[in-house]
Amino acid sequence: MNSPGLRARILLIAGSVFLFGIFAAVGVSGYFLHDRLLHSQLSRTQAIAKGLATQLERVLSLGIELDNLQGFDEQCVEAVRDNPDLAFAMIVGPDRRVVFHSSAGGPDAKALPTELLAALGQGEGSVEIAADGVFAAFTPVRRVSGEGLATAVVGFPSEHVERQRNELLAIATAIALCALALCLTLLFLALSRYVIRPLSRFARTIDTIGHGSAGGRTRIPVSGTTGELDLMVRGVNRLLDRIDEREDELTTAKDLAISANRAKSTFLANMSHELRTPMNAIIGLTDLIQRHTHDKRTLDQLAKIAGAARHLLAIINDVLDISKIEAERMHLDRIPFQPGTVIENLINLIDARAHAKGLDLITEMAPQLADAPVLGDPLRLGQVLLNLTGNAVKFTSRGTITIRAFPVDEAPGDTPALVLRFEVEDTGPGIAKADQARLFRAFEQVDNSITREFGGTGLGLAISKRLVNLMGGDIGVDSTPEGGCRFWFTVRLEPADRVVPVALPPGGGAEEDLRRCHTGARILLVEDEAINREVSTHLLREVGLEVDVAEDGEQALRMACAQDYALVLMDMQMPRMDGMEATRRLRRLDGWKQVPVLALTANAYPEDRQRCLDAGMNDFIIKPVAPPLLYASLLAWLSVGANEKMEAPSGREQCP
Ligand code: ADP
Repeated sequence: MNSPGLRARILLIAGSVFLFGIFAAVGVSGYFLHDRLLHSQLSRTQAIAKGLATQLERVLSLGIELDNLQGFDEQCVEAVRDNPDLAFAMIVGPDRRVVFHSSAGGPDAKALPTELLAALGQGEGSVEIAADGVFAAFTPVRRVSGEGLATAVVGFPSEHVERQRNELLAIATAIALCALALCLTLLFLALSRYVIRPLSRFARTIDTIGHGSAGGRTRIPVSGTTGELDLMVRGVNRLLDRIDEREDELTTAKDLAISANRAKSTFLANMSHELRTPMNAIIGLTDLIQRHTHDKRTLDQLAKIAGAARHLLAIINDVLDISKIEAERMHLDRIPFQPGTVIENLINLIDARAHAKGLDLITEMAPQLADAPVLGDPLRLGQVLLNLTGNAVKFTSRGTITIRAFPVDEAPGDTPALVLRFEVEDTGPGIAKADQARLFRAFEQVDNSITREFGGTGLGLAISKRLVNLMGGDIGVDSTPEGGCRFWFTVRLEPADRVVPVALPPGGGAEEDLRRCHTGARILLVEDEAINREVSTHLLREVGLEVDVAEDGEQALRMACAQDYALVLMDMQMPRMDGMEATRRLRRLDGWKQVPVLALTANAYPEDRQRCLDAGMNDFIIKPVAPPLLYASLLAWLSVGANEKMEAPSGREQCP
């Protein structure tokens, strides 16, 4: 049920107060009114009694004895008749005997009530005769000499005064009630006009502003008076002004933050591109020279260049990763994979390094994890594992490195999740308790001195911690000096229905297979950067592929119309027409639906990969390109052709 509105409440309160006032006033005035009416009626009755006495005195002054007087009853009757409010009029003789009487009304003429008998001797006065319900006024009748002859008594019923009082009170109450109704109506109108309507307007405006549906900068209208309500409205309007000012400031700050964030993202993407592009040239050209050189000394020097380049690339990747995480621009993939495969890849990458140092590498994995499909980012999970295992190998000089993976009991939360725990245990120097916490902060190392034995940036654990946190888990270390380290971390992953097989590099056989099966296949290389063009062209020709080169998307489209290609390697960032736009248009050309288009790009993040796939590309190869990986991808896609399931975008592109 709705509670009564403000107007109804005010009227209810005012009505109750008025009504109470009316009844209180009527009660009090009833009391005083009765007294005044009684008094005035008594005075009038007294005057009538006096008149009657005067008449009798005049008659008796003629020398007629009272007992001999006849017919004075008529005067008594006349007095009562002329004054209808009188009950009786009578003349009482000196012997207390009623001599004349107007009627049978009033006290018993034969036996006068004692109150009257007691009062008669006192001259002029009045008395209430309760038993008869009358008031009586009496006046002595005297001779000229002053001798008392009789008493004139006139009475009226006491109920007459009450009736009169009640009538007056009823009239007063009726008038008061009419006045109340009028007052309430006036109050209602005044309230509506001066209080309720402005208040309702105020409340409605506040409500619409509160709901944000007022649009623009709505203010509550001020009526122009100086009342409290206007004061309140002005106050609220000032408050709204301040809220708007704050909102403006916040919007400006937010816009600035957004544009700063966008600038940061653009900067990171550009940095990634700008750093990877020359690295591609260094690594690619080094690889090419290595392939065609037989001089031992030169080969040794080239191996050192390649090692230094890989080291530099790892540092670049770390710096870009931590910058990206700090800028909150790091996004994780959510694809199905098997944790067992990630561990397998890790062993492939680290095994040689461990054995070179004479370390044993042991894996302990819960059997159910080996092929349990989960949803997550296998590359980032692998990155954390590689960092911990790489550190274990780096800092341990003898003994064993143990890698463990097992599920942890329960993962509370809304979505079904699997919490996995990974551990990397070594028999190395260990870390003192005091140093353990700070290692997960960026740039921190146990040994910060210039004489430290091991290299490194101090970023690996900081990146690992942030990645693990992004995966809903935690990371830590249990260690004592000289007692080795056990680094552990947990990740929260969703169970997946199935795993989409990922095309993994099939070892070193891809190069020979390409030569054997795809020599002469024509590849369109779309690349704007001259050295990268040279590197990629050499790498492709190295395995017997025919290469045509386009310097941007527009040229690639023209060439695609003139010539069939088995596969396209497409750069992302190019002048005139970028790789995504070129791919979208390629896909609309006749016969281009099935041709594999692989991104070959220095833009290395998952969102870049997604943009390429969204544009219709089939795969994504990051520069600096590792030749085995490039060859593996080429082999896979040249063998299969473009994914049959991929739908070409609608519409037809005309050849330029
Ligand atoms: P980096 O290895 O590049 O220095 P990390 O963040 O990966 O950076 O490691 C930070 C520091 O933690 C290392 O420099 C080393 O002092 C210490 N540390 C990490 N792993 C181990 C380990 N397994 N044994 C001993 N010390 C370790």
